[in-house]
Amino acid sequence: MGHQYDLIVRGGQVVGPDGVRTADIGVCAGKIVAVEPEIPGSGAETADAAGLHVFPACVDAHVHFDDPGRTEWETIRSGSSALAAGGAASYLDMPLNCSPCTLNAAAFRAKAAVAAQDSFVDYAFWGGLTPQNLDKLEELAECGVAGYKAFACFSGIDEFGRADDYTMLRGMEKIAKLGLPLMVHCENAEITQALTEQAKAENRVSAREYGATRPPLTEIESVARTLALAEETGCRLIIAHVSTAEAIDLVTAAREKGVDVYCETIGHYLIFTEEDVVRLGAAAKCSPPIRDEANRAKMWARLLTGEIAFVSSDHSPSDPKLKEGDFLRAWGGIAGCQSTLPALLTHAWHERRVGLRAIAALTASNAADIFALPGKGRIAPGFDADLALVDLDRAYTLAPGDLFYKHQVSPYAGRRFRGAVTRTWLRGRTVFRDGRMVGEPAGRLLRPVV
Ligand SMILES: [Zn+2]
Repeated sequence: MGHQYDLIVRGGQVVGPDGVRTADIGVCAGKIVAVEPEIPGSGAETADAAGLHVFPACVDAHVHFDDPGRTEWETIRSGSSALAAGGAASYLDMPLNCSPCTLNAAAFRAKAAVAAQDSFVDYAFWGGLTPQNLDKLEELAECGVAGYKAFACFSGIDEFGRADDYTMLRGMEKIAKLGLPLMVHCENAEITQALTEQAKAENRVSAREYGATRPPLTEIESVARTLALAEETGCRLIIAHVSTAEAIDLVTAAREKGVDVYCETIGHYLIFTEEDVVRLGAAAKCSPPIRDEANRAKMWARLLTGEIAFVSSDHSPSDPKLKEGDFLRAWGGIAGCQSTLPALLTHAWHERRVGLRAIAALTASNAADIFALPGKGRIAPGFDADLALVDLDRAYTLAPGDLFYKHQVSPYAGRRFRGAVTRTWLRGRTVFRDGRMVGEPAGRLLRPVV
């Protein structure tokens, strides 16, 4: 006798768009077709979720998988495995750190060819906005980029040029016409560069000295200038990895004036402080830098009032050799894409009682909406069956060997968590279960619907 469903996930606490309730989830052909207190009938496969929570799988809007071109740092295969292990079923890969950088259609196709073979979960790509590719934005849109990324400061990659103010203005005009968003890394180029050179010349190279080369003002000033350009052009703007409460306040004020702008922040700005960075060393180096406890507390307050649209990982690993030597010269980038959801379960839900529905919005549905990724980010009929099964109370220490990254260098290694991802489904197929990847890569390219 045939089954009515391909999969039924039975009896979990389902974190749905309207709240958390006990329900069965029925799946056919990769899509959620029913979310009901009790689904009659049978599934070709049944999963018992009693005592567990079912979250919409995370949509990580900000990773650097370095593939193709820097596969000794990370690969799409290893990075997408780590995402699945962390409860994510889709991601937006950044246009730099891979080589070639995603600055034109040929580079987009080269990366898409790798991802089609190697990605365990679904993916979309960011295109770059640099002074060198202003005439390539349209062809990137035709390829299906989810948006564009620009740097107001040095990007860390020589081939990915900094967007001067003129490039930012012209780029925003074009991107607004294309109906796509622009994400900007906001730090003042001239001040950060001058302070870095002074610190190097005076051999001030510690973690604290590094933080002092990129003080809060450098982010705040750059956010204010970028907001003015977005207001003028009408371009949808996302401020990347906001690290200061003052920058969030500028974004909130601009939104109230009608500017189409959102804040992204990253788990590590909510979890760690400068003291942790001193203790953890270069594994916790990133830019903008992780700041003090007073700022962290203000960031949480703004997360609670809904001023932060989504939380990504900014997963940006490197060859471990680049993390050696003095802190100032070490690679700036944190490997963390396996830990975003567990870290929020630990520090948002258990410590601060941020609601589970709010956590699902921050990790999945808000990004799916902002980037117009149809079918992603919600547990509701008609959506893709991208699900993360979570044991909310399981406490554990994350061992380096638990990490699926190419290199087990992460500030999250050795940390205590409460809240574990036990299984992840991509479009109704199990991709991760009980610490192991399942099956072969079957991720698909996501194109925004604009
Ligand atoms: Zn980044």
